[in-house]
Amino acid sequence: MTDLHRRNACRLPVLIMIALSTVVGLSTLWEFKLEAWVMHWLALPYDADFEDAERWRFVLTATGFSLISLIIPTVLLKRLITNTRSSYHRLKQAQAQTETLATYDSLSGLINRRIFMDMVRNQLGLRRPAAIMLIDLDHFKAVNDQHGHAAGDVVLVEIARRLEAIADDNGGIAARLGGDEFCLLFLNFKHQTELCQIAEAAVLELSAPLSGAVEPSALGATIGVSRSWTDAQDASALLHCADTAMYRGKKDGRSTYNFYDSEYEKQRRNQADLELALKRAVEADEIVPYFQPIVALPSQEVVGFEVLARWLKADGSTATPADFIPVLERLGLIPAMTRSLIRQACRAANRWDDRLRLSMNVSAAMVTDAQFPDQLLEQLRQEQFAFHRFEVEITEEALVGNLDVARQNLSKLHEHGITVALDDFGIGYSSLYHLTRLSIDKIKIDRSFFELGQTDHLPMVEAILGMARSLKMQVTAEGVEEFHLPHLPSWLANSGCHYAQGYLYGRPKPASSLFCYTHSSFAQQAG
Ligand code: C2E
Ligand code: CA
Ligand code: CA
Repeated sequence: MTDLHRRNACRLPVLIMIALSTVVGLSTLWEFKLEAWVMHWLALPYDADFEDAERWRFVLTATGFSLISLIIPTVLLKRLITNTRSSYHRLKQAQAQTETLATYDSLSGLINRRIFMDMVRNQLGLRRPAAIMLIDLDHFKAVNDQHGHAAGDVVLVEIARRLEAIADDNGGIAARLGGDEFCLLFLNFKHQTELCQIAEAAVLELSAPLSGAVEPSALGATIGVSRSWTDAQDASALLHCADTAMYRGKKDGRSTYNFYDSEYEKQRRNQADLELALKRAVEADEIVPYFQPIVALPSQEVVGFEVLARWLKADGSTATPADFIPVLERLGLIPAMTRSLIRQACRAANRWDDRLRLSMNVSAAMVTDAQFPDQLLEQLRQEQFAFHRFEVEITEEALVGNLDVARQNLSKLHEHGITVALDDFGIGYSSLYHLTRLSIDKIKIDRSFFELGQTDHLPMVEAILGMARSLKMQVTAEGVEEFHLPHLPSWLANSGCHYAQGYLYGRPKPASSLFCYTHSSFAQQAG
């Protein structure tokens, strides 16, 4: 209660007492003196023989009524005033609370995103410098998942406390933007070296062990720095720059800091555009099969084709696997692309002579997926493509991840008559274990063995051919080119190599260029 309220509360009984004394005084004066005089003055009849007791009863009655008519409204009024006053007080409190909530983050007590953005906006509006350090905690989700949200809150509060200290030491302001995202804001010009020092110190400070239940090694922070005088002049854009710089740190292994770099952002945007375009390309069958002939030795007759992916882009250019396979792998889209390629390739090959086979490259992730054989068999059935005309090419790297599943998968394919070829043999692990224990029917000797001037590799090729003969496996030599003529094809044939593939026999071509392999034309050629 304020002094004013207290003074008012004391004054009320005094006022009532004064009012009552006045009533008593006036009614006494009226009854004993004034009544007679007024009646006389008004020339009205007046009975002056009243007893004093009667007169006092009148005084008491008048006083009693006055008392009631004064006290009841006063009490009611007082109660009304008290209620109004406390409602007003509560309203004021709620208003103050709302203002606090609108300004400060309730958990950390730091200023919130809205106020932070207002501050940056005002600063930039006045054309004054602002630098932002966007801080994102590393592995914070793991803290929440493993130790619960209460422990997560403790961590956030501790981080906020540390950031506040850093801000105080360097003339900055700490803010919590939400979740595990914080910011240090500097509203004065700071040289790059100074910002580096602050960011470095912050990375160090934020990765220092936390007291309490949380695993100390798990935490750290990645920081992105942007500056109004070099990067952006608009608050949202400046924050976006800091975010891009922070994202770069996350990709580079975390617990680090980066300044915004427009070149990097351009690359990132291109990458994002490429990813989006590739997603659409897979859905729209823009990635098409090209076919490279495989010939039998010594006849050098075409017996089948390796399917090689090509992306026919909207601008008319054609991209090769090196441009898009790694991106599709990262996006987990290789199975979708492979399904699309198998469908397109089978439909093309179904128009060809049915002695011609198809060879399909299958990624490591697919070979080690337990669903893969059934899905492939089902798709070949749907396309009415005979299993014995189909070959999968796998690389040894596919066998490193989950050898057991790979072994089961390859056995299943082999049992159904699908050929399994080990691609790029000789440059990877080239493990005898893989060759002897897995259902591998064919080896494809990597083209690097036949590169220009690499004649010293031929003894190795001979050794591979000897080993394949002992293991009863077939062999394809890859990368046979024009310059190898006339010796390599005959040498390979004489050394027991079954097949050859390379630019000498044909480059990868679209199905539309291969009409000569349709049933009738191929029969004529072969004849
Ligand atoms: P790979 O399976 O070893 O395919 C052979 C690569 O060698 C092809 O390159 C082919 O164009 C190239 N080549 C063929 N003959 C010659 C030659 O005489 N000389 C030279 N210098 N190169 C020759 P491409 O089409 O660029 O494919 C590169 C790699 O991309 C493939 O290597 C394969 O690992 C992968 N790839 C291609 N298509 C697919 C696919 O559909 N799925 C998966 N998972 N990978 C694919
Ligand atoms: Ca291949
Ligand atoms: Ca190969």
